[in-house]
Amino acid sequence: MLPKTAEIIVIGGGVMGASIAYHLALRGQKDILLLEKESFFGQGATGRCAGGVRYQFATEVNVRLSIESLPMLERFEAETGQAIDYRACGYLFILTRPEDVRVFQNSVAMQNRLGVQTSWLDGDEIRRRLPAMRLEDVIGGSFNPKDGLVDPNSVVMGYIQAAQRMGVRALTNVEVTGFVIENGNVTGVETSGGTIFTEVVFNAAGPWAGRLGHMAGIDIPIIPLRRQMFTTTPMPEIPPDFPFVLDFAQSLYFHREGQGLLIGMSNPKEQPGFDQNVDPTWELVNFEAATARLPLLEHAGLASHWAGLYEVTPDAHPIFGKTPVAGFYVCAGFSGHGFMHGPISGKIMAEILLDGSASSVDVSMLDLARFEEGRLIQEYNVV
Ligand SMILES: Cc1cc2nc3c(=O)[nH]c(=O)nc-3n(C[C@H](O)[C@H](O)[C@H](O)COP(=O)(O)OP(=O)(O)OC[C@H]3O[C@@H](n4cnc5c(N)ncnc54)[C@H](O)[C@@H]3O)c2cc1C
Repeated sequence: MLPKTAEIIVIGGGVMGASIAYHLALRGQKDILLLEKESFFGQGATGRCAGGVRYQFATEVNVRLSIESLPMLERFEAETGQAIDYRACGYLFILTRPEDVRVFQNSVAMQNRLGVQTSWLDGDEIRRRLPAMRLEDVIGGSFNPKDGLVDPNSVVMGYIQAAQRMGVRALTNVEVTGFVIENGNVTGVETSGGTIFTEVVFNAAGPWAGRLGHMAGIDIPIIPLRRQMFTTTPMPEIPPDFPFVLDFAQSLYFHREGQGLLIGMSNPKEQPGFDQNVDPTWELVNFEAATARLPLLEHAGLASHWAGLYEVTPDAHPIFGKTPVAGFYVCAGFSGHGFMHGPISGKIMAEILLDGSASSVDVSMLDLARFEEGRLIQEYNVV
């Protein structure tokens, strides 16, 4: 049975919704209801993501979000009791275009200024570190040993279970289908199980956040873009310290997954849509590009593959905060790198609701109004 009322409704049981519910409960909020349309939590973008966490971004606000969020992941088990398998394997961006070198060198300088220990590596050093890869065309790149990998489902479930222990009700199989809005205020949420009255709603619906905005008459410019990846059968030749390697020009990435590798590549021609089936044609393109970089792959088999949706905004930055409908908040649009910012984003949303603005990280420039007012902030390090 669904309740008839709730103080706060959080829509979406991915990393954002889970973290928001947890951080609101931690701040003492009561009567919080988390709604997820699927049968399990974390089946959206979060459960399909590569699990990468990194400090390396090109804008200060993204680096600052990482500076807060990654240590929260390091402390996660102590805080929630849930192990999340944090592996600091390092991210190694490899660059082949002179124009990227200039941007990345500036980004490394900015990251260093903010206290992030990212290093610049020349092409020879990268070839020395990755002897199994064909990297003749690589000019240079950047490496941060504290970047790494975390298990996404453990983070979602860790937050949800900790939130439940503090009294949050988290329900699956409840789809939000509309909103009740009176005089510019949200007063209720319509769901597959009936209407629930509330004055505070958080839209944490990831790739579906634009659709939910539309139901409330709010233009939230987030488009879903399919991204896919595959894992290989065991590759004993790959050393345990193999980093998360990103071939930036091709949006091609590799990291260790179990005994094999996880490999993905973004299709620049992908059209917006909610299709989450693997595109076999693109998978072949991905496999061929990956094999050209790592010839050992010719002897590896396909272990698994899947597709998920990026939640892309016009400037590849998330949207935090208020909307034109009073009581309706948004936390979405992380444009393919939101898993790692889930912990701090939940804390920020609790600050915005309870204190009026975020104090952990200044995200005031990442408001919804920036699109109408032309204050876009471009992020270069989008994979
Ligand atoms: C292939 C791929 C690789 C990625 N790799 C990385 C990475 O390495 N590192 C990183 O940081 N990020 C990565 N990302 C991005 C990351 O997954 C997302 O930014 C992040 O998970 C977004 O979390 P979310 O909670 O906003 O969205 P989601 O996890 O999608 O959660 C939204 C939830 O809302 C639910 N929902 C939607 N509509 C409704 C409704 N009407 N009623 C009720 N519930 C609803 C959905 O079912 C879903 O569970 C990747 C994404 C993809 C697709």
